[in-house]
Amino acid sequence: EASERESMLAVNDFAMRWFERNIQQTQEGRDIGLAYFRQRGIDERMIERFHLGYSLDRRDALRTEALRAGYTDEFLEKTGLIIRHEGGGISDRFRARVIYPIFTLSGKVVGFGGRTLRSDKTMAKYVNSPESVIYHKSTELYGLYQAKPSIVRKDKCILVEGYMDVISMHQAGIENVVASSGTSLTEGQIRLIHRFTENVTVIYDSDPAGIKASLRGIDLLLAEGLMVKVLLLPDGDDPDSFAQSHPSSEVERYIEENEGDFVKFKTDILMKDTDRDPIARSRAMTEIVRTIAVIPEMMLRTTYIAECSRRFGISEELLTLQVRREMAARA
Ligand code: ATP
Ligand code: MN
Ligand code: MN
Ligand code: MN
Repeated sequence: EASERESMLAVNDFAMRWFERNIQQTQEGRDIGLAYFRQRGIDERMIERFHLGYSLDRRDALRTEALRAGYTDEFLEKTGLIIRHEGGGISDRFRARVIYPIFTLSGKVVGFGGRTLRSDKTMAKYVNSPESVIYHKSTELYGLYQAKPSIVRKDKCILVEGYMDVISMHQAGIENVVASSGTSLTEGQIRLIHRFTENVTVIYDSDPAGIKASLRGIDLLLAEGLMVKVLLLPDGDDPDSFAQSHPSSEVERYIEENEGDFVKFKTDILMKDTDRDPIARSRAMTEIVRTIAVIPEMMLRTTYIAECSRRFGISEELLTLQVRREMAARA
């Protein structure tokens, strides 16, 4: 129903403005939230641009404020801003966290991510709004609203894992960056990117989880017909830490010089430390052939087969045969 959606969007907008007011104008918000972003090197311009905020360390401060403004518990619950507990108690979902609002393509706030400021591991590092009538995680991308003009201008989209990656890259002057944020990349998110460009560079965290997610992401992106590049950051870095520890001018250059196609990426990670080991070589080739087989466009498959042939010194004919087998096995 249209009016229900409108009310939910209005509640979210109200909450966003409240979180922003907290971080700018309350003692707690400034001392804790603002100080946190400052310590991570995020400047005032980015806090404004991404409407970053802070949720107070109280049981139901937002709820109290929203009820006073005339919103109902029902709507607050539907948008996931409050949680109704089993005993009947009600509390804010976001407490003592810095807040990242999630915008749709048209700039409406449909949800939030909240990061804890404590280092104890019993607390989830991030809490996110649940799915709702207005928030479908599989078809939203964090940062797309801010990134869109740059994606179109550069005809290229950089895909990263998290909120801070988007913001720090943006601050370094690289604005064509979006994140799938917590959910693993979906077809719906890829189609959203494809509306604006065919060219995607994946820069995930340089840790085992990030590499695994890259491998999966690459296959999905290729299967949707996109042109994919990948960049493996130095060990342990993510785009945020990399951007914060290098001068802005170097970050863009580093990406341009080090992004490569998936054949290179898979070769690099599967043959790391194993130089001429024949088993590793054949495993790498098998994996590359599997990925080539997901590409819908024949000419593009042919190009990658040629690349793989050069890299491994295996004939194109043999590789073509293997790719066909793999495609047949899938069909
Ligand atoms: P930070 O730099 O603040 O530690 P990060 O983005 O590097 O954050 P990662 O652990 O790399 O954190 O996670 C990547 C992204 O995955 C996060 O930005 C967030 O969107 C999502 N995420 C991480 N942990 C959780 C969680 N416990 N629940 C939901 N989403 C999460
Ligand atoms: Mn296309
Ligand atoms: Mn990370
Ligand atoms: Mn990080």
